[in-house]
Parts: sequence; C-alpha cells; structure tokens
Amino acid sequence: MSNTPLTPGITAGRLPEESYAAQFSDLHPVLDEHEALVAADRCYFCHDAPCMTACPTSIDVPLFIRQIMTGTPEAAAKTILEQNILGGMCARVCPTETLCEEVCVREVAEGKPVEIGRLQRYATDILMEKGVHPFTRAEPTGKTVAVVGAGPAGLSAAHRLAMYGHDVVMFDARPKSGGLNEYGIASYKAPDGFAQKEVDWLMQIGGITVVNGKKLGAELSIEGLKSEYDAVFLAIGLAGVNALRAEGEDKSGVLDAVDFISELRQAEDLSKLPIGRNVVVIGGGMTAVDAAVQAKLLGAQNVSMVYRRGRARMSASEYEQDLAASKGVQIFYNAAPVAVYGNGSVTEVEFEYTAEDGGTLKGTGETFRLPADQVFKAIGQALDGVPEEIEITGGKIAVDAVGRTSVPGIWAGGDCATGGEDLTVTAVAEGRDAAEDIHAKLMEG
Ligand SMILES: Cc1cc2nc3c(=O)[nH]c(=O)nc-3n(C[C@H](O)[C@H](O)[C@H](O)COP(=O)(O)OP(=O)(O)OC[C@H]3O[C@@H](n4cnc5c(N)ncnc54)[C@H](O)[C@@H]3O)c2cc1C
Ligand code: SF4
Repeated sequence: MSNTPLTPGITAGRLPEESYAAQFSDLHPVLDEHEALVAADRCYFCHDAPCMTACPTSIDVPLFIRQIMTGTPEAAAKTILEQNILGGMCARVCPTETLCEEVCVREVAEGKPVEIGRLQRYATDILMEKGVHPFTRAEPTGKTVAVVGAGPAGLSAAHRLAMYGHDVVMFDARPKSGGLNEYGIASYKAPDGFAQKEVDWLMQIGGITVVNGKKLGAELSIEGLKSEYDAVFLAIGLAGVNALRAEGEDKSGVLDAVDFISELRQAEDLSKLPIGRNVVVIGGGMTAVDAAVQAKLLGAQNVSMVYRRGRARMSASEYEQDLAASKGVQIFYNAAPVAVYGNGSVTEVEFEYTAEDGGTLKGTGETFRLPADQVFKAIGQALDGVPEEIEITGGKIAVDAVGRTSVPGIWAGGDCATGGEDLTVTAVAEGRDAAEDIHAKLMEG
C-alpha cells in the first residue's frame, strides 16, 4: 500500500504523485491586464505617498501605478527596478501587509489597500518575460570590487557597481547564486525557478564575474580580498543557527528549519522528500511559518507551530499566521520547549507554558507534550565566519547609514549587518546604498 498522511514515522510520498505540483503552486496568481487596470484604478496617486515612504527601497509607487494605467507596464517596471533591482522577487515575497499596503490610504479608510505587490509583479513580469534589461553599463572605471555573498544584498550591490562601470567579482560559498531567494524563500512564493531566472536577468548588465564555492574564512580571507580589490562588500547573511537550549535537542529528527527548507527548494521531485507524520516547528517568524506550511503541503498529518510568546509578539505577520492556519497548521502561543524525548530519534517534545512578567518571560510550571517524528528549529539565525578585526554589535556587523564597517575599505549590508529588518527588500536597499557610497569613494580624487 502506498504512503498516506497517516503512515507512521518519516516517509516520502504521502500524497498522490500528481498532487505535488498543485500543492506548491503560486501563492498569488498573476494579474491579467484587465485585473491590473482595475487594481491600478483604485490608486489615488497621493502626494507624499505613504506607500512610498513605507517601502525600504522607496519605490515611486504612484508613478509606477500610473504607468500601468496608461498602458506602459515596461516603463512601470523600469521605475520599480531603478530603486529595487530585485523588484520581481520582492513583488512575490515582500510582506506588503506590514509595509506599503499597510499604510495605503485605501487600507486606512476602507480596510482594502491598493494591491501594490501584485501590480509590481504584473509590471516586472512583463518586462522580464521579454528578456529586456533596461539599464546599461557605464564605461569601465578600472576599479575592482569584491562582493562576498550572492544573496539579495550582494546581487543588488553588484548590479549597481557594475552599472557604474566597476569590475565586480561576486563570491559565494554555495553552488548557486541567489542566497535565501534560492535556498530559503517558501517554494509557493517563487515557483518555476524564478530566483535563478532573476539572477540570470540581472547579470545581463555585464561586468560581474560570479565565483561559487568560495567561502570567506576558508578559501577567502579579508586580507587577501583587501589587497586584491579596491573595495569589499560583505553580504554573507546569517549562516549560523541558534540552539533551542532544550534537553535532548541532539536527537535524530531534530533539524534546522532553514536546512529543511533549503533541501525542499533544491529537491527535483517533492514526492521523494521524506516528511514526518507529526511535525513540530518551534519559532514564531517567517521561517517557522514557511517550514510548517511546507511540511503540511508535503502531506504531514499533524503540524504544530509553537511560539514562546503571545500572538501579538510573533514576527510572522497576521497574514502569514492566517495562511498557516488555513493550511491546517495548529499554532500554540506562550509555550517554550523544555525537553525532547525519544530513544535516539525524537518521539515527543515537552513544552512549558510561559507568561510575561514585567517584560521578562517566565515559565508557569505547567507543561504539555506534543508527539513528533520531526522537529524543525526556527528560532533565528546567527552571524557566522566574520573576521575578528571587524566590529560586531548585537550579533551583527556594525555599519553606519551607508554600510561602512569599522575597517576602512570594507562595507557590509543585508542580514549580516546592523540596521533594518531581516527582509529581502531591506537587503536590496542596503546593498544598493552601500554600492552608491563605494562608488562615491572610488571616484574621489
Ligand atoms: C526560511 C526563510 C524564509 C524567508 N522568507 C522571506 C519572505 O517571504 N519575505 C522576505 O522579505 N524575507 C524573507 N526572509 C528573509 C530574507 O530571505 C533575508 O532577509 C534576505 O535573504 C537577506 O539577504 P542577504 O543578501 O543579506 O543574505 P542571504 O540571502 O542569506 O545571502 C547570503 C549569501 O552569502 C553566502 N555566504 C554566507 N556565508 C558566506 C561566507 N562565509 N563566504 C561566502 N559566502 C557566504 C550564502 O551562501 C548566501 O548566498 C526569509 C528568510 C528565511 C530564512
Ligand atoms: S497610498 Fe495607496 S492610494 Fe495612495 S499612492 Fe500609495 S497605493 Fe496609491
């Protein structure tokens, strides 16, 4: 008999083979032309538009929506991409409900914002499907820049620097470029290999050499990069994972949620990817939601997400929490893991209820257990492999407003650096702004 969601243990093929494609299809289907015009027609083209201020990359939202309305979606795409070269990915993954759409005057007045994210996707998809790259590279300057990390921050910086005529070498420890766009974002947010298509499209600018499989701290050293290049931009994200600090967390079946998602994103055939019958995800952010939802989509019977604080403190937005609930994920609030049980492999996790007392989280003494074949830890990532001479603040590389680190000639941005939320769009903004400062510095004198 074939496997089902009820099959005990960790196993592949819990669903009929033909259903995986539908399970993991696009979360938000693309708008057609008529739908886009109707959606664009709701915009008031506000003066001092709050949506633009709320966007970390400051996209001129009213302008691009007007360009869609006037039947020039390619011009709209250029408006978007001038500010945010990964505007295609951001249109798919931005938590718009907590950024531009949250402050849209139509959201404030009517509880229904202009669908800015979907309109952005409409415009950028049209341009990218035509293979058009609307930017050209300036005359070569003879200056060289090393970018370490080919995620959103690194790609954004590399593109801007190459556009100004500098020669960029972009290193990455992994075999593919894209960072978490390729290895982390939930597969239903960016299906059909969009992350690599976008990287290939971005590379059309020219002047960027990609070197994969080279890691800072192993094959690369900061001294070597400093002596070989005129500037260095660090965009290495957060490669380390925090520990649960619960007894027995080393048992088999206890995994990092990011590793599970990365394996899922790289799987050629999802029906071959094993998943538990009972899956417990620990954490309250986007990673936790993505791991829980995707475990459910793979056919796990019971998926629970357990967060140590209350609903309001969860970093996953309300929209994401609702998405998880709508897929059948059960969310437990105010519970922290205390022990993982099982003989070699995990079978149960014990949690203690928590309460906040003057801002401090305390266990109440009352416990409960959840059955688990698999436990995914999604309690935050940590900085890993930063050279000692670079100053760290609060677990991140300390940078100023334009991305300069404590070491002259070295800039940093994205998740690995201080400032801003850990979001794709913030990483793009920081990469772009650091590139502007690097360019200004290289052109001095
Ligand atoms: C599971 C998950 C889901 C997410 N979902 C969303 C979402 O839906 N929307 C959203 O806006 N944000 C989301 N985020 C956050 C978003 O992905 C990150 O904020 C963003 O990718 C940060 O970009 P970055 O370029 O700073 O780092 P990364 O994307 O992490 O890229 C860093 C790159 O550096 C490389 N690298 C690391 N160490 C080294 C080294 N020592 N030497 C060389 N290369 C190195 C890595 O291989 C990687 O390619 C999610 C994050 C996770 C983990
Ligand atoms: S706030 Fe809303 S209505 Fe105003 S410009 Fe932005 S998208 Fe349009």
